Amino acid sequence: MKLHLFDTYTRAVREFIPIRPGAAGMYACGPTVYDYAHIGNLRTYIFEDILRRVLEYNGFAVRHVMNITDVGHLVSDADTGEDKMEKGAKRTGLSAWEIARRYTEAFQSDIKALNILEPTIWCRATDHIPEQIRDIETMEQKGFTYRTADGIYFDTSRLPDYGHLARLDAAGLQAGARVEQGEKRHPTDFALWKFSPPDSIRQMEWDSPWGKGFPGWHIECSAMSAKYLGEQFDIHCGGKDHIPVHHSNEIAQAEACYGTRLANYWLHGYFLELDQGKMAKSAGEFLRLQSLSDRGYDPLAYRYLCLTAHYRGDLKFTWESLDGATTALARLRNACHDWAAPGVPDPEWLGRFLDLINDDLNTPRAVALVWELVHSQISESTRKATLLHFDQVLGLKLAEWQPVEEIIPEAIQALILARDLARGEKRWQDADALRGEIAAAGYTLEDTPSGSRVQRSRR
Ligand code: AMP
Ligand code: ZN
Repeated sequence: MKLHLFDTYTRAVREFIPIRPGAAGMYACGPTVYDYAHIGNLRTYIFEDILRRVLEYNGFAVRHVMNITDVGHLVSDADTGEDKMEKGAKRTGLSAWEIARRYTEAFQSDIKALNILEPTIWCRATDHIPEQIRDIETMEQKGFTYRTADGIYFDTSRLPDYGHLARLDAAGLQAGARVEQGEKRHPTDFALWKFSPPDSIRQMEWDSPWGKGFPGWHIECSAMSAKYLGEQFDIHCGGKDHIPVHHSNEIAQAEACYGTRLANYWLHGYFLELDQGKMAKSAGEFLRLQSLSDRGYDPLAYRYLCLTAHYRGDLKFTWESLDGATTALARLRNACHDWAAPGVPDPEWLGRFLDLINDDLNTPRAVALVWELVHSQISESTRKATLLHFDQVLGLKLAEWQPVEEIIPEAIQALILARDLARGEKRWQDADALRGEIAAAGYTLEDTPSGSRVQRSRR
């Protein structure tokens, strides 16, 4: 089966046909580097990594561009409130430039730990101010902008199909507008350039034809994606929260500037939810990848967990589900490691796998196929070669994994020996009691064909 993807713009699963045969341009909205990424953000980057790997698995040469938002993302989508970067600077006592560097590095180290392939191109908003100003000038010349006391705004009423991506009802919004919209003419209008406040000095500000200030959040993505991928490119992606505002506005800017809808396919990852609801950085407490590592979890177990859910459905995070993913990943690693050297992958299994991932990245079914393969009767060397081939997409680093030689304390080793003896003598009650003692001491015992295997339990 050829690659098919769900395109939010048309609300349809469409065959992926690139603009240039054999190549795929892909832009992913990157992090706002005012704080650490939480594991919800990281779910979106894992989904985008799977997308990229599937494109490559299908033979496309991928150019993957990711931006770093280091200015202009305001606390409120309504173009009011503080700049998140300046807020982060106040919180940490560092400068806005310093926190940008700190959290960019933290983000890059997180994605490495999750085996997310590095984008072909990283681009920072603050490195592309002239490009953004140029695009705003073009929009101004074409009559899409107006000025208020605090900035230059995009007039969304000038585009008859504004908000098509989100199926927004602009007229309805206008009629029902009760929200504080300041001098904005329509509730959906958005800032292209914000003026520095007259009474205070911003850490990040630039001269422009309209006065000192900084770009709005949306303009960086249309300007940088067009610069690195062309004014019309293949795929634009991000989390689903970007559909109604950020991506709708990027499309509006592209339509006004270049006369295109920017990307041919718009893909959106759904959310990771904690029990208490949406996971948000602004809600205070949030889980980082480091929070999982601190509790002894392997970042790749989190990656495995994300693979077990389809990207187009929300995923509820629980510690139990992460425990389950940890156990499954350990089994997979051990199985793959114990098999003989890889032979040649089985074409029939490869075909089945391709059909699943090409069906709008159906990773949960691909993971189920992995287990079917593990339990199949085909030779170990073929199974191993086939599984390692799948891992080009899954990215679980199965080829590299080596069991760690854990130092098991003598007291635990004595319990294991006693249990092995009890089992040998069919004293099952004693064996069970000893297993209980081993577990109580913080070790997990697994019986394998080659004897019992013990590991330190997590948490
Ligand atoms: P931000 O750093 O806030 O700009 O967000 C980075 C990415 O994470 C964006 O693509 C968001 O759509 C995405 N995102 C935010 N919250 C979540 C969540 N709870 N689950 C999955 N993705 C999220
Ligand atoms: Zn963006």
